[in-house]
Amino acid sequence: MQGKSAPADRKLIRAINQNRLLNLIRLNAPISRPQLAALSGLSLATVIGLTGELTTRNFVLESGPAESTGGRKATLLDLRPEGGFALGLMVRGFESIGVVVDLRGDVVFSLHWDRSLKHRSAQAIEQIVEMTNDLLSQSGVDKDLVIGLGCALSGYIDAKSGICVDSWNLDWHNIELAEPLSQRLGLPVMIDNDVSCITTYEKLFGWGSSYEDFFTVVLGRGVGLGLVFNGAVYRGATGGAGEFGHMIAVPGGRCCECGKRGCLEEYVSFRGIIANYYERNYKENIPINITLNSTSDQAVRSEARMVHELLERTARGDELAAQAFQHSGELLGIALANLVNVLNPECIVLTGEGAFVDQAMFQSMEAVLRQNSFSLLGKDLRLLVEPLVGYESWARGAAALVLHRFFVLPMHP
Ligand SMILES: [Zn+2]
Repeated sequence: MQGKSAPADRKLIRAINQNRLLNLIRLNAPISRPQLAALSGLSLATVIGLTGELTTRNFVLESGPAESTGGRKATLLDLRPEGGFALGLMVRGFESIGVVVDLRGDVVFSLHWDRSLKHRSAQAIEQIVEMTNDLLSQSGVDKDLVIGLGCALSGYIDAKSGICVDSWNLDWHNIELAEPLSQRLGLPVMIDNDVSCITTYEKLFGWGSSYEDFFTVVLGRGVGLGLVFNGAVYRGATGGAGEFGHMIAVPGGRCCECGKRGCLEEYVSFRGIIANYYERNYKENIPINITLNSTSDQAVRSEARMVHELLERTARGDELAAQAFQHSGELLGIALANLVNVLNPECIVLTGEGAFVDQAMFQSMEAVLRQNSFSLLGKDLRLLVEPLVGYESWARGAAALVLHRFFVLPMHP
């Protein structure tokens, strides 16, 4: 449409500019209004108007005068962390974790629910509403200061439509969540795949914040991949991108939960490492009874215990246990090299509760990755390991969805 912009357009442009300034303050604080004008390209008068509004709304505070350069002292602006809060929920089959985070993404309150939501998609909305209200009332945070709820689920999630397409961990299929939750709670609600949530957090507040093109690889019970291109999380056409764990690592290999054979996850996840050991050591009677490929809570905990036992065996000189980790590292290295050759990231952030509990696994992964990367693609690639991410971090990632929209996308009126 040509001609003078409509009031709605002007309001949107104002909201976009206000968000830009808020994000610049977040990234560069303490910062003066003239510096903001220079960074944003907006006029000083516009910056004064917009930051005045941000200060009135308590998102920004004046933190004192800038150092004098001879002229009039400029006041410095900073983010006011408690000016707003985001709620994050990580909904798992047998438990859920909720957090309240401030505008800096720091967790100020967390809550854990030991309730099973697996096979209970009919109660999904009711249960999430109940947990959110619990979180709000127990944290004591004023609902008027809450800018939204983010919800992380494992599986194939269509974040754009707010639909849980297939979560095998929960056995929820084709469940619309975001819109009905938003109506019930009176808050903006966003849902996403749990690995995309962790990746959103990494981009906003973590190591990934220095990079425009990076991967987040999450290791543990499964294998997840988050992709950031040009500074934005990539979700694919319908939200299904990043199913790295189901890349074929061994044609005709072990059966996977997804119905295919030889998926990477079956060799690199906790159960994959354990299966590597079984394969090499099948004659030995291993004194732990574990049902591989089971999604029960007990089996998941048994897997973690078993991996720790394998670590102890490695430390005691058990060569076959060491090989089990090494084999996982090599297959992960090959898979990552294939991705690096296609997508050329600057950095890979490796995280999760299984992020290289064994040092040799990391070393074999890195060696194979660098050897198999094309030309110089692997040479300057940064590898960052952030181990021991508890489930609270997943919920924090869910809250980061809300903060991402708050800082990077146009503000809701
Ligand atoms: Zn698979």
